Amino acid sequence: MQVIGGHFLALGALALAFAAFTAARFYLVSWIGERIVSDLRSAVYRNVLGQRPVFFETLQTGEVLSRLTADSTLVQTVVGSSASMGLRSLVTALGALVLLIAIHPILVLSVLAVLAGFVAPLILIGRRLRRLSRASQDRLADSNATAGEVLEAIALVQSYGREGDEAGRYASAIETAFDAARQRIRLRAGMTAFAIAAIFLGNLWGLYLGVAAVVDGRITAGTLSQIALLIAMLASSAAVLAEVWGDLLRAAGALERLMELLDARPPADGATARPGAAPQPGRPLALSFEAVSMRYPARPEVAALTGFSLAIAAGETVALVGASGAGKSTVFRLLQRFYEVDSGRILIDGQPLAALSLADSRRCFALVAQETTVLSGTIGDNIRYGRPDASPAAVREAARAAFADGFIEGLPEGYETPVGERGLRLSGGERQRIAIARAILADRPVMLLDEATSALDAESEAMVRQALAAARRGRTTLIIAHRLATVLSADRIVLMGQGRILASGSHAQLMATEPRYRRLAQLQWPEEDGRARVEPAGADRADQDKAPGTRPAG
Ligand code: ATP
Repeated sequence: MQVIGGHFLALGALALAFAAFTAARFYLVSWIGERIVSDLRSAVYRNVLGQRPVFFETLQTGEVLSRLTADSTLVQTVVGSSASMGLRSLVTALGALVLLIAIHPILVLSVLAVLAGFVAPLILIGRRLRRLSRASQDRLADSNATAGEVLEAIALVQSYGREGDEAGRYASAIETAFDAARQRIRLRAGMTAFAIAAIFLGNLWGLYLGVAAVVDGRITAGTLSQIALLIAMLASSAAVLAEVWGDLLRAAGALERLMELLDARPPADGATARPGAAPQPGRPLALSFEAVSMRYPARPEVAALTGFSLAIAAGETVALVGASGAGKSTVFRLLQRFYEVDSGRILIDGQPLAALSLADSRRCFALVAQETTVLSGTIGDNIRYGRPDASPAAVREAARAAFADGFIEGLPEGYETPVGERGLRLSGGERQRIAIARAILADRPVMLLDEATSALDAESEAMVRQALAAARRGRTTLIIAHRLATVLSADRIVLMGQGRILASGSHAQLMATEPRYRRLAQLQWPEEDGRARVEPAGADRADQDKAPGTRPAG
């Protein structure tokens, strides 16, 4: 009993070791799964943020989010749990195999020969499974993209009473995803059945050979029971491995989708030639367009800009006017290098913009967009967005210059008031002034203002106008102008149509000489029309009727 007791003590120690090692395996492998996926998510997100707009024209936001969440979660489950099981089974199976070889090599070889026959079909099925997994994740992402788009536009959906239709559209996207998943599951079920059948048949064959050997007296019954035990271990571990293999294939489909985002490279980015060559803030810069032509990749048949040449002196304010689609916003997008020119070039301070790195190019411009975006965070954070290290005093000063100080001080927590997604909603005029304060604080050499078309009440309007005037002070400024007052305050007006410059000059000059401008002025500023102030009325309507091409530019 003493000897036996010793054995049991040793077995007890083994049990404890087994428990400890299982815990360690679980911890380490799950940790690896979480770690891999966290790193992958951050890397993918970082890469996506660096892409040009063309990338987002073809890939919906919901699709990107789906890859970041659904696909990476799938990878995590597989790496973190299936892989853990797979590792254990692999070790068990290898151990059983080694022992079997030691006991009866010929038997093992004949079992392996039988199993080898099943490998080729399994690989073929596996490939197809991976494709189906990918399709299934694609369809899931489609449904996510649909939902994301609709939730973004919930006000539109509800105001036209389309909730039911949108719910139906989502349901049908989900059904499509379900169908794709069903195909995948069916194949996976078949593959599992095939693999398990192969493994067990192979092992039964081995057992049969073992029994035959006992009957012939070549091995003892004791050896056979050893073989039977090992074969059982081998078979069950191999069955688990087959399951894990299926999981891995599924994860491979998801991983492929993530890798596409990780591998996406934005078009080559010029590196700033010498350090310090990048234009410095604090002084206005001259800009010049030399015969710039550009077509959007999504619409190569139409030129958005054709032979566009314009020189803007440092500190000058130029107003771009023209009908919708004339190419005004395209000028801004090219300056900020969201798109590149097809031919011609843009010079900033005498050096080609394309020779600067993207980051350096963008540091030259502060944009106040028509649709001002306020991110979730405090008002202070929003103003500081272009210069995160700005002191509270600098933030306050920028807000004061943008005529935003007054309303901000009136808020419950002043500059610390949360706004955006989860906070206070700001009025149109307030948002605009926040955006202007942000641009002023960023202190870039060139100001790009896309004047909002939405009407503000007279008081907000006056404040926004004063704020814009402050933003322009001491900077080269390009304004997409919609208001007469803005046009009148510019040093020069450039009339655009169909991607070309039709005319340029002061308001008075253009009113006197350019019928297309007069026509635009009549349409855009019917009441506040500046004619009374700048030129005798009367003749323009007549010669506009006579002049060729008097449609509004563009
Ligand atoms: P608006 O005053 O209405 O904003 P705009 O003068 O700013 O008009 P742009 O936005 O510069 O006009 O557009 C010029 C032309 O390029 C238009 O015909 C427009 O349809 C097209 N366009 C603009 N953005 C894209 C894009 N991302 N892909 C394809 N075509 C585009």
